[in-house]
Amino acid sequence: MEGGCGVAGGTEGGKKQQQQARPQFGRSLTYHHHQGHRLLPRWRRPQLADEPRARPQAVVLYTTSLRGVRRTFADCSAARAILRGSRVAVDERDVSMDAALRRELQALLAARGRAFSLPQLFIGGRLVGGADEVRQLDESGQLRRLLEGAAGQDPAFVCDACGGVRFVPCPACAGSRKVFDEEEDRALRCGDCNENGLVRCANCSS
Ligand SMILES: [Zn+2]
Ligand SMILES: [Zn+2]
Repeated sequence: MEGGCGVAGGTEGGKKQQQQARPQFGRSLTYHHHQGHRLLPRWRRPQLADEPRARPQAVVLYTTSLRGVRRTFADCSAARAILRGSRVAVDERDVSMDAALRRELQALLAARGRAFSLPQLFIGGRLVGGADEVRQLDESGQLRRLLEGAAGQDPAFVCDACGGVRFVPCPACAGSRKVFDEEEDRALRCGDCNENGLVRCANCSS
């Protein structure tokens, strides 16, 4: 009986010691974890790269970088500049870089009974319109209200993963558009990239 009491007392004392020691140990571990995480380059932090996808109000601007039609090119630049001035993060989709993006916009406009034209702005999945609509909304102050739920971004921001091009060479085929199929013993068209051997930059596109 006496021995049992002694053991119980000893256990009690041991528990107290552990409880006191634990928080300090925990803090130390957390501190080291954060230090290590901060050293990773921005594109290697998955939770940050995934953030734009979770934003409720995606700002998507379809543009072209082809100068074939001067008016269209100037309109794209004007819409881009207005959004940049609004200090919001824009997912710019250059349809001249990717035929799939052109088809995507064609389908979105056709579903709304609109003819194909560039640029086109969508906020939170809703079609806002082209350069004239963006200009008018900006001048009347309504654009600011429409962009209230959008993610902010410094106008000087340049994506360090793609340099602002929004596309990077396909990692699966290194931009060659061909991958070697061992079963068929021949090179096949890479299924990951577009007609230019590019994939959209995961760091700045949603
Ligand atoms: Zn990028
Ligand atoms: Zn590829």
